[in-house]
Amino acid sequence: MRSDPTYQRTRIAPTPSGYLHAGNVLSFVLTAGLARTFGSSILLRIDDLDIGRVRQAYVVDIFDTLSFLGIPWDEGPVDADDLRRQWSQRQRVDEYAEMLRTLQERGCVFACDCTRSRLSGGDFCACAGRSLDMMEPGHTWRLLTNTHNRIDHLDLYRGPVASDFPSSVQQAVVRKRDGDPAYHVASLSDDLQFGVDLIVRGVDLFDSTLLQCRMAEWMSADAFSRVTFFHHPLLSDPSGRKLSKSAGDGSVSDLRKNGASRRDIFQGIAATLGVKESPDHWKDLFDIVSETMGITRDA
Ligand SMILES: [Zn+2]
Repeated sequence: MRSDPTYQRTRIAPTPSGYLHAGNVLSFVLTAGLARTFGSSILLRIDDLDIGRVRQAYVVDIFDTLSFLGIPWDEGPVDADDLRRQWSQRQRVDEYAEMLRTLQERGCVFACDCTRSRLSGGDFCACAGRSLDMMEPGHTWRLLTNTHNRIDHLDLYRGPVASDFPSSVQQAVVRKRDGDPAYHVASLSDDLQFGVDLIVRGVDLFDSTLLQCRMAEWMSADAFSRVTFFHHPLLSDPSGRKLSKSAGDGSVSDLRKNGASRRDIFQGIAATLGVKESPDHWKDLFDIVSETMGITRDA
């Protein structure tokens, strides 16, 4: 008989703003491997809220790449058409608006009319004290953050961790100039709505985690304080630069067009980690990555 899962649900959450690359594959493999280790269901959540950046070809690429690599998911859309019909984030905008309303009612946000160029020097804006009209078209909403906060979160292997609130997400935008909710709102709302309790993401999103934990506190969304996080190292090119979709780094689809097999792609990721093995299955790559990154499977 199967024992109770340690975590109920995790998610694979790609943004269809470019073709997937090896760094995305590593994140998916870690998510799938940890889900199978801890008995969690895997939700495929495609972050398609920002329609200005989403392209249908990128959406299709997500399904093609996961299928080609044999990486499983248990819940969520089965294809691009199913995403459009019943899983798109555009269908959850009412929930996101509700979260923004709550943040506003609790006095956690302020309106801002700063242009991008005015803030280009890295300064914080001074709109918090101006009492600008929240509903004025073209105004963004920013969080009224406090640098002196300590933020707690649960780390998969280290347990409870308290961190300083990071400057990179001070006064983060939660409602964009066009009125759409920002990533942090959609991501937090979805994780709460779907009952996600294990989040695997790159270490580049560590500051976002702390911000979302802070937002959840404001919202009295206690369930989020029980979410456990694993922030994995990122793959980088030989010069140490992080791989990214926007930089056009070798996409899986390009590799496939050049004849790469699943084994070739997994082997490339293993080689980036300094391992000379040729895994043919994502589970074998997970074992290699776990060992290389010091992830203990029975933790
Ligand atoms: Zn401002």
